[in-house]
Amino acid sequence: MIIAVDGPAGAGKSTVAKILAQKLGFLYIDTGAMYRALTLSALENNLDLNDTKALVKLARILRINLEKDNNGSLRTFIDGRDVSQLIREPRITQVVSDVAKIKDVREIMVKSQRQMARQNDCVVEGRDIATVVFPGADKKFYIDANFQKRAKRRFRELKNLNVGGISLENVALDLKNRDKIDSTREVAPLKKAQDAIYIDTTNMTIEEVVNAILIKIRNPDDKAQNSK
Ligand code: C5P
Repeated sequence: MIIAVDGPAGAGKSTVAKILAQKLGFLYIDTGAMYRALTLSALENNLDLNDTKALVKLARILRINLEKDNNGSLRTFIDGRDVSQLIREPRITQVVSDVAKIKDVREIMVKSQRQMARQNDCVVEGRDIATVVFPGADKKFYIDANFQKRAKRRFRELKNLNVGGISLENVALDLKNRDKIDSTREVAPLKKAQDAIYIDTTNMTIEEVVNAILIKIRNPDDKAQNSK
């Protein structure tokens, strides 16, 4: 069974998808972490982020793995090196969308995402999961929230991760920029799949969102629908 969870940053997607996977005993696949890992490696190798060819070449040779640690948290590895912390740094967040908009990069990532899901029930989280990666997913959700709330959530998340040198204004600016690139890019733009269930989390707790999703998943008659 594949559960697709899409939506913009700060909507609560990751937290919800993680808890959902835990509760269901499914594999959790954070596809954003893969684009972040590639971006980190590109910066470490001093690649010009406008050099599409070089980025695609790197994406081809890089081994990006997502694995659960003993605490059940997902960790991201590049060629066996744990980069879970590094990929959350602002220098990555600021440019990851420019890397993720490259068509051939996306093809490589999508192929790998499909492979990961081949033998497992999973909750897959990203921007194009329901529309492109798994259009046949068993359940599709689009998690959203108003902009102010998303910026505040991202800010709090980064503070909790002890990421320094950030302000709410910076986080909001960055979010706006990523929203724009992610939703207007030519290939696989962020958008709600027609048959995805839309959830506005602005005034909901994480628990409420998780429960709302579980109810939808457990009700076989409840075909995906939308309210937006
Ligand atoms: O989910 P997260 O914020 O970590 O994703 C980082 C970036 O990776 C997004 O802003 C987007 O540009 C890209 N991404 C994507 N497609 C996905 C997941 C993430 O383009 N499926």
